[in-house]
Amino acid sequence: MQQDGSFSADARFDAVLVGAGIMSATLAALLHELDPGLRLLLVERLEGPARESTAAVNNAGTGHAANCELNYTPMQADGTVATAKAVAINAGFERSLEFWGSLRERGQLDPGAFLHQADHISAVWTPENIAFLRQRFEQLSQIPAFASMRWSEERTELTEWMPLVMAGRDLKQPVAATRIERGTDVDFGALTRAYLEPLQRSGALCVEYGTQVCDLNRLRRGDMREADWRVILQGPSGKREVRSPFVFLGAGGGALPLLQRSGIPEADDFAGFPVSGLWLVCGDAQLAAKQRAKVYGKAAVGAPPMSVPHLDTRWIDGQRSLLFGPFAGFSSKFLKQGSLLDLPASVRATNLLPMLQVGATNLELVQYLINQLRQSPTQRHEALQQFMPTARAEDWSLSVAGQRVQIIKRSKQGGRLQLGTEVVASKDGSLAALLGASPGASTAVTIMLEVLQRCFKDRLASAPWQERLRALLPSIGGDPVRDPDLLLAMRQRSDALLGLTG
Ligand SMILES: Cc1cc2nc3c(=O)[nH]c(=O)nc-3n(C[C@H](O)[C@H](O)[C@H](O)COP(=O)(O)OP(=O)(O)OC[C@H]3O[C@@H](n4cnc5c(N)ncnc54)[C@H](O)[C@@H]3O)c2cc1C
Repeated sequence: MQQDGSFSADARFDAVLVGAGIMSATLAALLHELDPGLRLLLVERLEGPARESTAAVNNAGTGHAANCELNYTPMQADGTVATAKAVAINAGFERSLEFWGSLRERGQLDPGAFLHQADHISAVWTPENIAFLRQRFEQLSQIPAFASMRWSEERTELTEWMPLVMAGRDLKQPVAATRIERGTDVDFGALTRAYLEPLQRSGALCVEYGTQVCDLNRLRRGDMREADWRVILQGPSGKREVRSPFVFLGAGGGALPLLQRSGIPEADDFAGFPVSGLWLVCGDAQLAAKQRAKVYGKAAVGAPPMSVPHLDTRWIDGQRSLLFGPFAGFSSKFLKQGSLLDLPASVRATNLLPMLQVGATNLELVQYLINQLRQSPTQRHEALQQFMPTARAEDWSLSVAGQRVQIIKRSKQGGRLQLGTEVVASKDGSLAALLGASPGASTAVTIMLEVLQRCFKDRLASAPWQERLRALLPSIGGDPVRDPDLLLAMRQRSDALLGLTG
């Protein structure tokens, strides 16, 4: 606002994106590609990009393609596994690869800075879990997206696939695994910086770090559809406001409180349930070099699906390491660098009952989290040794992972704990927020395409945007799930551009 009460045109943007994580960064990149003339503002409360869940050390860096994550294919009452979610996640990750390939083709992205190939392996060692894995393998390997999946119960082959998992293992213990060689490790922090820096340098994107969005409300003029959002920023030089016809709340755990402040009626359906996490990290590069795989196991009863234990090869800032976990826990913070008051402050008359209903109907989860919180260092090491029998405690250190805020959604049947992500948008498309955590970063391109579809519907349908979109995502409009030839063409193009094989 200027001294004479008028509003400076400099403080009006075509879009304001809140949070400098992978979600806002992906949306900024997409919007810029579709219309380079847009004036975009990105606001981040911390002093740099990708410092919450998107930071490589705060997540597992798995390019989630449902190759190895057993929680995406739950067992059903009829003895078969459900495959629909796995197929959708796989297609979502292919869309991310397609987008990165196009930016690589244009010389705008260096895949070597954030993308590494690593086998995706599911490994189990109880008769019940082996039967489950066998069923999963038989169904998935019939689907074109997973046709390259291989099965083994043969020790020599398993040792070749995952030497650290097999070394020192009891010879009498049965082990089975599936492997897909075209898996990936992704440094989502490096990717976020790679999206943002060129946009910022070219002036297409204004970025304000160390600046918190503390409030937002809709200006009321004659026609609501034309009214801007007024976004209040608290930065190093005090409070000020900016305006925009479109706001994206890509604030991770901070999205729910902002969605509630926005006052849109859609916000009333939601509450959040935070789950914290710990990793064991082995920085011994020589040990890490012995494995080039992400090995996922089966979650314990009651565990939230994202707490499936896994032993992961990582590339972070060019360094190889090994990561094991996550061990789940409970903290009332919505962000790792948040406040213990986050959860209580999010309770409203509209979401209290759904929260209580979820607490009462998810006692196994509550019990699981209590047990995880009570785990001693020795018990955590024992859990690691189930995956890597030769692991020595002195090689591993504890590291705090990012905070995940699971969605609690009000429904006619009562409060429901939702374990995916959900785009919540106002009816008029002037505001959107992303809630939830998994599969998250891996499918950010698909999620942001949904934001565009719901909030930029008319422009997305226009000839110039369609032309640019098709150049960026050549398979758009087709269905790689139903059309194996299209899937093959997508994969061949992405592999050639991003240097993947298999
Ligand atoms: C333990 C763990 C393991 C995971 N593993 C994987 C994995 O293997 N593969 C995968 O694909 N995904 C994984 N995820 C999920 C993935 O990390 C998230 O989906 C993704 O990082 C979310 O990105 P984001 O941009 O929405 O949020 P964030 O990265 O959390 O960014 C949100 C940003 O908003 C800022 N912010 C918040 N409030 C405000 C405000 N009021 N004003 C200004 N700025 C604000 C925050 O400071 C933060 O920088 C994992 C997550 C966790 C926690």
